[in-house]
Amino acid sequence: MSECNHNCNECNQKDCGERSLAFKLHPSSHIKHTIGIFSAKGGVGKSLVTSLLAIKKVREGKKVAILDADVTGPSIPKAFNVKGPLYAEEGAIIPLVSQTGIKIVSASLLLDNNSQPILWRGPLIAGMVKQFYTDVNYGDLDYLFIDMPPGTADVSLTVFQSLNLESIIIVTTPQDLVNEIVTKAIEMAKKMNIKVLGIVENMAYAICPDCHKKFKLFGESHVKKVADFYQLPILGEIPIDPAISKLVDSGMIELIKDTYL
Ligand code: ADP
Repeated sequence: MSECNHNCNECNQKDCGERSLAFKLHPSSHIKHTIGIFSAKGGVGKSLVTSLLAIKKVREGKKVAILDADVTGPSIPKAFNVKGPLYAEEGAIIPLVSQTGIKIVSASLLLDNNSQPILWRGPLIAGMVKQFYTDVNYGDLDYLFIDMPPGTADVSLTVFQSLNLESIIIVTTPQDLVNEIVTKAIEMAKKMNIKVLGIVENMAYAICPDCHKKFKLFGESHVKKVADFYQLPILGEIPIDPAISKLVDSGMIELIKDTYL
């Protein structure tokens, strides 16, 4: 094993457990808590949970921003109905601001057309995440939530190693066999002294529109077993509900009554 030069971007021993914390915040940004939202694969509701966390904290009177690093499905700007392009002022990128005051930066806010796919390779995405961390003027924040790309590939590693990430939250669904990627993320976080705050179970149940009974669409969940094994709390159970996706699709997620978290 070669000696650590604290430059994770040049190193191929990527999960060595060292954190370079090479990315520094813009001098105008002062952030109390930086929390990454992580999932093993796409489509499990990571962006939804990121949005709900931000909404919950804003309702508690906190100052909040979201860094949408998930270029595979950048759905945050759509859910909050914020439209680009982002612009720069005095050498810093200025985040867009949602109806309730959540600051948002996202790769899709750099595009002319949100329906364009983002066909970027890992290093370019990692570069974007760096820029959204170091070149954005977030001002004073209580929370910066980072919607991470799914999995433990390059970009997640960059976020783990190079940003001053305080903790992560893991999002899974009951049918997602909380697979080895989640286990790997927990182990990776532990190794790098990043706290795992807990697991959020999305699509945990549904409510029958006729009898209003709660039922488990996917049968018994495996989430509790993993949570118990790692002694992690389950931070929330979110039902599968067409009303939620409607709010997301119409850009009105901030009107949601219950954040379930
Ligand atoms: P990810 O970020 O993990 O790729 P998203 O949060 O973008 O997943 O969710 C994928 C899609 O599923 C979105 O259209 C979202 O509105 C929808 N969705 C997620 N969770 C729920 C839920 N609990 N109920 C209804 N729709 C949901």
